[in-house]
Amino acid sequence: MDFEFSEEEKLWRKTVREFSEKNITPKIREIERNRSIPDSLLKKMGELGLLAPTVSKEYGGVDLSWIMSCIAAEELGRGDISLSIPVLYLVEAAWGFILNRYGTPQVKKEYLTRATKGEAFCGIAVTEPTGGSDIVGALQTKAERRNGEWILNGEKMFISGVAESEKLGGVHLTLARTDPSAGHKGFSMFAIPIKDTDGISTTLLEDMGREGISTGGFKMEDVHIPEEYLVGELNKGFYYAMEGFSAARTLIGATCIGAAENALEIGMDYIKTRKSFGRTIGSFEGIQFPLAEHYTNIESIKLIVYKAAWMMDKLYQENKFSHHNIALYAAMSKLKAPQYAFNAMNEVANWLGAIGYTKEYPIEMGIRGVRSYSIGAEGTLNIMRIIIARELLGREYLPYGVR
Ligand SMILES: Cc1cc2nc3c(=O)[nH]c(=O)nc-3n(C[C@H](O)[C@H](O)[C@H](O)COP(=O)(O)OP(=O)(O)OC[C@H]3O[C@@H](n4cnc5c(N)ncnc54)[C@H](O)[C@@H]3O)c2cc1C
Repeated sequence: MDFEFSEEEKLWRKTVREFSEKNITPKIREIERNRSIPDSLLKKMGELGLLAPTVSKEYGGVDLSWIMSCIAAEELGRGDISLSIPVLYLVEAAWGFILNRYGTPQVKKEYLTRATKGEAFCGIAVTEPTGGSDIVGALQTKAERRNGEWILNGEKMFISGVAESEKLGGVHLTLARTDPSAGHKGFSMFAIPIKDTDGISTTLLEDMGREGISTGGFKMEDVHIPEEYLVGELNKGFYYAMEGFSAARTLIGATCIGAAENALEIGMDYIKTRKSFGRTIGSFEGIQFPLAEHYTNIESIKLIVYKAAWMMDKLYQENKFSHHNIALYAAMSKLKAPQYAFNAMNEVANWLGAIGYTKEYPIEMGIRGVRSYSIGAEGTLNIMRIIIARELLGREYLPYGVR
């Protein structure tokens, strides 16, 4: 067992941190105000290999390992506590990976080579107005094959990156029923370009936080898609979605850790200088005991997150571990990291007193941003608990039965 990062991993962390400090942190308020990440910043991220980095070199990526991807997620979370840029990064890292693994060469060439340069977006569209947790029960989008094409009808809602996809172009990996009688074995995944596709209309939502990246929806009315836009095999879409969710949840864990570390450092600087009753407030146990708790929480979940990433590298490079093993660790990461990060940031706001309630400090952006991940982006906390219990007890104990 070795808890040390390799020299290459340490250098990557240093590189991403320096990049973030120079190019990202000074801009996060502006990004939130403008509700958009500047094209020039996306271009620079692409040049450093920070856009869909898990994509193979053939399609413009850097074939980044999951440990290295988590390091970047952590550093971007540290650099952009609002989580707008980390969300863009991790959605594309997870779903770009799935498209790279299962998509056709034509679609990969068209979209991944551009996404890795910041000239297209690659997202995921599972959730519908009828619900996101109960995929088998709630999803109504259907795809039918006619005359060598796919015709899609349905509506996706609460989808990250709709405005980015409309602006830049790109694809959302969209789950649709292709065999409605087959439960989870009747879903397929399609690469759907939102921009300039006949039959697609979009909606944008106003979020509580992470406002630099959009959340919205899109309706598909008789949308015609070439056969090559089916991702992987027919009726295997549910499995590809679960594989991508495990990757995304691990990266979410890493980015929440980075944001919490930044918040705790801001808080520690403050409590070491702010005075009350003739002493620095950091010398009061009422302040330093919560610090000890939050720091310990963040360090403990970091071990689980990096173990998940390590297991993913073992799976994809050496065929060790199963998707089930990884789903368990990814769910534990996603269950705890957003909650620990939120609690740590909330505590730091207490330490700051009145100024913690202003926009002088970025803590309020962090609180709003990280909350998206405990509410539900990439799966709610209860769904994480269900996955963990399923892996411990077996599928026959699923509270809603096997479908
Ligand atoms: C900011 C943001 C970005 C998002 N981006 C995307 C995206 O890019 N792509 C995408 O497909 N989706 C996205 N989502 C949607 C997200 O995946 C869903 O919000 C999530 O899956 C939950 O679905 P729901 O909101 O419909 O809640 P519901 O499924 O209706 O659940 C409501 C509540 O009931 C609880 N619940 C449901 N079933 C059970 C059960 N069996 N036991 C106990 N509790 C239960 C849930 O935990 C939750 O608290 C995003 C969400 C947010 C907030």
